[in-house]
Amino acid sequence: MSHKQTKGVPFIVSAPSGAGKTTLCKMAVAFFPGLRHSISYTTRPPRAGEVDGEDYRFIDDAGFDRMVESGEFLEYAGVHGKRYGTSRKDLSGLLDEGTDVILDIDVQGAEKVRGRLSGGVYIFILPPSVEACEERLRSRGKDSPEEIKKRLRIALDEIKKAQEYQYIIINDNLTAAFEKLKSIMIAEKAASRRMMPRVAELFGAE
Ligand code: 5GP
Repeated sequence: MSHKQTKGVPFIVSAPSGAGKTTLCKMAVAFFPGLRHSISYTTRPPRAGEVDGEDYRFIDDAGFDRMVESGEFLEYAGVHGKRYGTSRKDLSGLLDEGTDVILDIDVQGAEKVRGRLSGGVYIFILPPSVEACEERLRSRGKDSPEEIKKRLRIALDEIKKAQEYQYIIINDNLTAAFEKLKSIMIAEKAASRRMMPRVAELFGAE
């Protein structure tokens, strides 16, 4: 029997660089069949192994400017000297068809989305310590020492925003952190406010 399409849930996940957020988001997308990753637009160059249209949509500054001017971004922000933005149309297309979406966006982006998107679930991921954060940035081997230093400084600043999120996961162990992320997602999907349209349909409740 076909039933009315329930809207997808937007999961907004932020973390300082080096907290393991990308890994956790990828694990979640691989685990939940109805979950997709929101593909952001960015002006930063691709890192080794990144694929255009999968990890990001890589565009130049002029292209980004055009999208800003035509109001195509739900939010956009400057991060580490580059720009990143979430397409309004891509996101609403997914949510309207009932797909749950992970938005891997920074704290500035999350702040904007809070006022513009209803029903979002806000999750903050933390590294277990400052040292671990630095170590993870180094071992990724994708950024220069200056870039790493800059990212660490910004990371410590961002951690102050953790209290603005509904959930906080300290990633001291990847398996345990993923269990927490999964649990949050499963529980949020079962929240009565989200389930009531389906209940009404099944049982004719008001
Ligand atoms: P990276 O360059 O390491 O892939 O990402 C740097 C930061 O940009 C991360 O904190 C990531 O969450 C954030 N980011 C990625 N896409 C977006 C976006 O569309 N909007 C905002 N505000 N931040 C984003």
